[in-house]
Amino acid sequence: MKNKYDVIIIGAGIGGLTCGCYLAKAGLKVLIVEQHYKAGGYCTSFERQGYKFDVGVHYFGGIKKGILGVILDDLSLRERINFMQFNPTDKIITPKATTYIRSNPKDTIQEFNKNFPSEKKNIDAFFKFVKHDNFINIYKKTSKLTFKDVLDEFFKNQALKTTLNVLLRNIGLCANDASALATIIFLREYILDPGYYPQGGIQKFPDALLDRFQDFGGNVLLSQKVDKIMVRNNSAYGITLKNGNIFEAKYIISNADAIETFDKLLYKKTEELKKIKRMDIAPSSFIVYLGLNENFIKQVNDPCNIWPFSTYNLGKTPVNSKNAILIGKPLLSLITFPYSHDITYKNCKKPTMQLMALTSYESKVFWAKNRDKLTDRLIKEAETIFPSLKKCVVFKESATPITCYRYTSNSNGSAFGWASTVKQINPLSSPAKTSIKGLFLAGHWCTVGSGQGGIPKVAFSGRRTASLIFKECAMKSYLSDYLL
Ligand SMILES: Cc1cc2nc3c(=O)[nH]c(=O)nc-3n(C[C@H](O)[C@H](O)[C@H](O)COP(=O)(O)OP(=O)(O)OC[C@H]3O[C@@H](n4cnc5c(N)ncnc54)[C@H](O)[C@@H]3O)c2cc1C
Repeated sequence: MKNKYDVIIIGAGIGGLTCGCYLAKAGLKVLIVEQHYKAGGYCTSFERQGYKFDVGVHYFGGIKKGILGVILDDLSLRERINFMQFNPTDKIITPKATTYIRSNPKDTIQEFNKNFPSEKKNIDAFFKFVKHDNFINIYKKTSKLTFKDVLDEFFKNQALKTTLNVLLRNIGLCANDASALATIIFLREYILDPGYYPQGGIQKFPDALLDRFQDFGGNVLLSQKVDKIMVRNNSAYGITLKNGNIFEAKYIISNADAIETFDKLLYKKTEELKKIKRMDIAPSSFIVYLGLNENFIKQVNDPCNIWPFSTYNLGKTPVNSKNAILIGKPLLSLITFPYSHDITYKNCKKPTMQLMALTSYESKVFWAKNRDKLTDRLIKEAETIFPSLKKCVVFKESATPITCYRYTSNSNGSAFGWASTVKQINPLSSPAKTSIKGLFLAGHWCTVGSGQGGIPKVAFSGRRTASLIFKECAMKSYLSDYLL
């Protein structure tokens, strides 16, 4: 029947697309329904007045050695996307040192040793531990620790600890809150195999996944919002779209926000709802998209990601509260240069820059009053690194946490789903298999034991949910075991 599938996936984020590719490849009849007119969720790109931007995701890690590499091979995607690795990938600025992350991990370790010579032995030991082949060993040693515990165990130098702490803005936490395991997994992907950018922009990755999904026989509906998940006798059996259309399937996978899934898409109140209402959500972000004139190009030596210093305090995540914004003292988290790593966009006369700040959610009224003010303050902050930035701006636009919510339905505009704290990386916090028979989760609202948020982790989650479906259908799973 036309509207009957084996599996329906709600959402074409990287979690949903990866899961869909594996299931369709195995011969299941799969439908992906996405509310936006394009696939990718936070991993999308857009263009304004000829200036090109990436919505959120600005680079990938783990393409050569990590889970993304495994997934690209499994789905024969390497020939479809040209991933370029840029070098240096990141520049971390603190008052005591400027440290570069390089595409070759040996060079990165050397860089740390050069900046913090008194800690050389400890730096070598730390990276040896992060790189360790025996993942079970890392798991055993770190699963109950915060990243601050690990930093304190290895290092004495506060500036060095701060340098590593700065990178945690990538998961929206400070060292004292972040799970050590989730952080080490992040470092394995983004320090030991970092800095990949697809030729043609970030959008190329979800587009290639979607093409592959369709090649495998999968169907997709874009610009269609799922309104309800239909449940009978505690078994999910279909979805209703906002336009009233109904589709049925034996298995429903939600790549959408878990709170949205359990609170709005289901009529039935489940045990998960009570539990997840007590869980912590990762912060959202405020993003400024700048189109610049050609003079700006001369100011940028290394168009890598720049992480400006904010605090030596490892117990304070640099999230901009309402008050910080009102008193005009925002903390700038990250500066990126979208498309500057794309050889086809090099020498382009329309350079772009993005400024990101971790931010609390706040109301529409608040953002209507403070959006422009925060945009200008962040430009001013960036001028401490690029002194004549303001004069080079020809185009500016910003996204508030409400914009993030509007385009992706992530609760509070969360950038990384559930916060990857020690208690919340437990696979049972928000597991892929739900209490409703046939209903599963995939993406950064699903806990798999290694932390949430970030493309490698959500792709891993999608792959893992596919393996659970294979088990349910008693199908042979051809997936290799892969520990992140
Ligand atoms: C500013 C920012 C910068 C980031 N930078 C990086 C980075 O450089 N590298 C990195 O690895 N990670 C980065 N991240 C994190 C990363 O983007 C996310 O963790 C990841 O993209 C989440 O993927 P997902 O598949 O779980 O969900 P999402 O990307 O949120 O996708 C969910 C999809 O479901 C759809 N959906 C939701 N509800 C419905 C419904 N009812 N009906 C139909 N469709 C629905 C949404 O429209 C969306 O497309 C960044 C995030 C942000 C916000």
